[in-house]
Amino acid sequence: MQGGLFGDETATENCIFCKIIAGKAPGHILYRNDEVMCFLDIAPVSAGHTLIIPLKHHDNIFTLNDAEATALAIQARRLAPIVKRVTGADGLGVHQLNGRAAGQTVFHYHTHLIPCFHGKPMQIHGRKPASQDSLADMAERLRTALK
Ligand code: 5GP
Ligand code: ZN
Repeated sequence: MQGGLFGDETATENCIFCKIIAGKAPGHILYRNDEVMCFLDIAPVSAGHTLIIPLKHHDNIFTLNDAEATALAIQARRLAPIVKRVTGADGLGVHQLNGRAAGQTVFHYHTHLIPCFHGKPMQIHGRKPASQDSLADMAERLRTALK
């Protein structure tokens, strides 16, 4: 289990997502450029649950600048149809929480892409970590589809 799961990260040096960016913690990475990184959520609501983060640490939306917000939105729009298609989802939730009061649990800004299915109640948080094998398999399928 990685340290940040449901943790309370407030400082960059203790931030699990900064550690994944720096290669100091494992992550199933789908895509990265100079501004953003996209990787699989360790405890997916459903297979293919993806997180999109800025490389620069921001706790939440309140300090993001326009260029960072644009770069994040571009990747959400680019990945959304691919995640939906690869997972066979009926719909896709795009969610983003800011502050503990809003339910945020990792304090490095991130957008969730969550595959949704008819008859399955909508959730933002998964209940348990997925197996490393299932995450690796899904990451490979998504990386191939992104090419
Ligand atoms: P939030 O509640 O802040 O919107 O969502 C944080 C998300 O980060 C949760 O869905 C949680 O499962 C995920 N998460 C927490 N720790 C880790 C980790 O170490 N690696 C990955 N890939 N995801 C994590
Ligand atoms: Zn961070």
